[in-house]
Amino acid sequence: MVPEAPTPEPEPRGPQLPDPALRDPALPDPALVVLVGASGSGKSTWAASRFRAAEVVSSDTLRGLVGSGPHDLDASTDAFALLEHIVQARLGRTLTTVVDTLGSDAARRRRWLDLARRAGLPAVVVVLDTPASVCRSRNAARERAVPARVLTSQLASVTGTVAALADEGWDAVHHVRPAADATPPPAPARTSPPAPPRAESTPWADAPAPRGLRGVVLQLSRFPADDDLLPWVTRMAGAAEAAGLAGLALMDHLVQIPQVGRAWDPIPEPWVTLGALAAVTTRLQLGTLVTPVTFRAPGITAKAAATLSALSGGRCFVGVGAGWWDREHAAYGLGFPGARERLDALEAGIETMRALWAPGTKPYAGRLVSLPETTCYPRPVGSMPVLVGGSGERTLRIAATLGDGCNVPSGEGGLARLDRYLELVREHGRDPGEVHATVLDLPVVGRDRDDAWARVERHRGRTPAAAFAARHHAGTPAEHRERLARLVGRGVTTAFVAPVGLATPEDVLALAPLATAFG
Ligand code: GDP
Ligand code: MG
Repeated sequence: MVPEAPTPEPEPRGPQLPDPALRDPALPDPALVVLVGASGSGKSTWAASRFRAAEVVSSDTLRGLVGSGPHDLDASTDAFALLEHIVQARLGRTLTTVVDTLGSDAARRRRWLDLARRAGLPAVVVVLDTPASVCRSRNAARERAVPARVLTSQLASVTGTVAALADEGWDAVHHVRPAADATPPPAPARTSPPAPPRAESTPWADAPAPRGLRGVVLQLSRFPADDDLLPWVTRMAGAAEAAGLAGLALMDHLVQIPQVGRAWDPIPEPWVTLGALAAVTTRLQLGTLVTPVTFRAPGITAKAAATLSALSGGRCFVGVGAGWWDREHAAYGLGFPGARERLDALEAGIETMRALWAPGTKPYAGRLVSLPETTCYPRPVGSMPVLVGGSGERTLRIAATLGDGCNVPSGEGGLARLDRYLELVREHGRDPGEVHATVLDLPVVGRDRDDAWARVERHRGRTPAAAFAARHHAGTPAEHRERLARLVGRGVTTAFVAPVGLATPEDVLALAPLATAFG
């Protein structure tokens, strides 16, 4: 027990609220977060407002599990043995762990810090700097108050702990000062959030004005059984419009790819499906991400895209790529030549499509392609952006010379290739401000932290939860918006977003905050 010490007690501050950053410091995630504060300082309340219940390891809660209740001091030894075990197990899996104890035991702090270091996790301390008088009055109001002299010694030990923290090697020590007169921070929503606007009832006028492909484009990759297909895609597209998204993209595959589902899961032909969506939408840009040049002669893709453009009033874009999955080619009796030949075909294919979309019917004699006439009616309405998918050097060169944009994965590796693409665009004397620098993003989007982690559990398969959550940036819409907005600084203009497990119009409406990530 810490000896009772007559420490001067800071008086509660005035009625003004503390700096919000003090209440809500930016913390690394995943991380070890060790709380320090006396009883009644608000540790458990603060932890519950920011973290999932499973992330908070509380000595009081564990006393309640192995003893008669949270205040059963006779159960402390057992409770702390369990606490140490849980902290070690969670940190070993690189899962965020918030240790909710007084935080005054230096040997324990050192052990937790070592465990975090071994797991490669950042480790921070959060000190609840609540004035002593506030702790006392909150304590007095409790059903089972801590004896006054015990609280006094706790307050003294916190002062000593804070002095010691500076030399212990923590990545950060944050001080949180809840206002004495403030209401407790709201508990996070554990149940359903307020109902999102219904697609049918939201006037389009509320959504931001369409700016072509700039923004967030919803990528659909999983589909329901055949009977439900049209109503389902219609509702999903309606939700995308209501959420203010810039467009809707479909994968172009003949067999569902293993990254998404099973081979017998439905994957509709995209140009036919986009034609149906042209009829039920008014704002979304519609296109593929991406059409392999190996599937159809490029003139046939040009015809389909021009028709979609005409049907949709100029809302069509074409994603093209060299193709990669030999199995679907074999299954459908299509050739699958080597990479060099496929890239040759990609280059010639874009040239062919552009020739057919150009005004007039005159003969075309280009660098790779000659056509006796270019009679393709209907013509596309307005522009027809061609996005080239893939990040190999030659693919990026084709995108920079013949395409209107590129598409790369949204991770750091992809962004490095995007840098290269923009360099090539400049090298070829083109204005980087006029191309579409697009990324494919596969986020886990949850209503709140609990829902995000429930989705991680549902979809991670055998991948460790922490790794899956990190790879898919598991988080809330607000967190994803912030992350995507940061990509603007890397030159990204558009994110094709395919949320993991996306299934319902509500999942699409939840993406509304992302719609403005790109300005
Ligand atoms: P702990 O003992 O440090 O874990 O403190 P608790 O989180 O259990 O909080 C003690 C009491 O203070 C509870 O009744 C909380 O509702 C209340 N409390 C916690 N944080 C705040 C706050 O920021 N403002 C107000 N007004 N009350 C709070
Ligand atoms: Mg507590």
